[in-house]
Amino acid sequence: MTVTMDTLVSLCKRRGFVFQSSEIYGGTGSCYDYGPLGVELKNNLKRLWWRDFVQNRPDMVGIDASILMHPMVWKASGHLENFTDPMVDCRECKLRFRADDVDTLAWTHYCEATKGNKFTIPAAEPCSHCGARRTLCPDCGKGELTPPRRFNLMFKTFMGPVEEEASVAYLRPETAQAMFVNFENVLQSMRLKLPFGIAQAGRSFRNEITPGNFIFRTREFEQMEIEYFVNPRETVEGRPADEYWHDRWIADCMAWFRRYGLREENLRLREHEKDELSHYSKRTVDIDYRFPIGWSELMGIANRTDFDLKQHAKFSGKSLTYFDEERKEHIVPYVVEPASGVDRALLAFLADAYTEEEVRGEKRVVLRFHPELAPVKVAVLPLLKKRDEIVKAAHAIRATLAREWRVVYDDTAAIGRLYRRQDEVGTPYCVTVDVQTVGDSDKGEAGDGKVTIRDRDSMGQARVPIEALTGIFRDLLSGGDWAKVASEFPAAK
Ligand SMILES: [Zn+2]
Ligand SMILES: [Zn+2]
Repeated sequence: MTVTMDTLVSLCKRRGFVFQSSEIYGGTGSCYDYGPLGVELKNNLKRLWWRDFVQNRPDMVGIDASILMHPMVWKASGHLENFTDPMVDCRECKLRFRADDVDTLAWTHYCEATKGNKFTIPAAEPCSHCGARRTLCPDCGKGELTPPRRFNLMFKTFMGPVEEEASVAYLRPETAQAMFVNFENVLQSMRLKLPFGIAQAGRSFRNEITPGNFIFRTREFEQMEIEYFVNPRETVEGRPADEYWHDRWIADCMAWFRRYGLREENLRLREHEKDELSHYSKRTVDIDYRFPIGWSELMGIANRTDFDLKQHAKFSGKSLTYFDEERKEHIVPYVVEPASGVDRALLAFLADAYTEEEVRGEKRVVLRFHPELAPVKVAVLPLLKKRDEIVKAAHAIRATLAREWRVVYDDTAAIGRLYRRQDEVGTPYCVTVDVQTVGDSDKGEAGDGKVTIRDRDSMGQARVPIEALTGIFRDLLSGGDWAKVASEFPAAK
């Protein structure tokens, strides 16, 4: 089944994943805040990306660059000149539209033929009373529109105390440029040999005119980008190194999304057409995901050739080359850029994890997150909150497990209800402490020191000794097999 955006938005708000920014003041356009569970999910996502693409690879290093960069960076990168949309402004109400959008909007019309009555007319249609077509502002219906002007999507600000042209700075519209301008620093300090990559995860800003679709397109967002430098004179498996590595990265990124739960049928590759390619790009391939809004870009993997390093060499006057020991010559590496958005990936994982099913005549909502993505790994639940020994044992278990994972304690409802709540936020395992665990001192009965683990996906249970919990979860939470645990520690029927 495909979940609707409305369902996701409402779940995200209700369960503390994502809130509208500054909501008590009416909200900020297309800005969102990650709540207590959202921030855990987002951190897990970024940590996995970093672990798999940086930590585990000998050919990768990371950086964390500042958001404010030298304005020349954006001149060299082409953003100052080209990162623009043609816009028209209403001279009356000052509203701004994308030039190519104006005729796709319903328009307001004060019709002379009907004593100036106000009508809203469907996009691109004439007035049915006077036959007029839209010439004025579609929104207020009164103002003339300016001729199209190029509107830069970068957020502009001023560095230092004086607001003058010389102190203009921009919030970075992408993280990639920091890898290019630090190429020499990283190369020299880390003594790297081609091929190698520099990764960075961080905020970027784009003053989109038409943001929307929840966290799919926002003005402030987080990126995870890699610039992978290769020697274009080399061949790998009989192919030019840049082409070989481009394909490798496409395959690796696809495998990564699958590994953490995106279903095959919701993923596809899309090759950019020749006329769609940036002038410096040799080839670009998008990984598309079937979002609730339809197929859209999840990430892009571009072969940017030597464009960026050459541009920065030209504008900075510094040499940004690599010395090829074998050929005894300086070369400008080619770069393959796998660029993804954290927020967009998070939305895809959320949408893919969302499941509704019927269990004993009741609807069960489950987020089937991969355990490594799940915001909360384990919930510890006392079966009876009035029994001190049970509550104490449950708190102690939570404290022990919390040294390694995000673990919560909850006693605010009956057990069935508590399970459903954890299902709805994707917690893979619940641990229940009951009378058997602690025994009954009044009756002189000793506890068995065992607790019940309940598996989110199968709703199956296992009965395990408390001291075995940490070991079992280390295995299960890194992809271990639940069936094995369930057969080794069967729960009493
Ligand atoms: Zn009319
Ligand atoms: Zn107007």
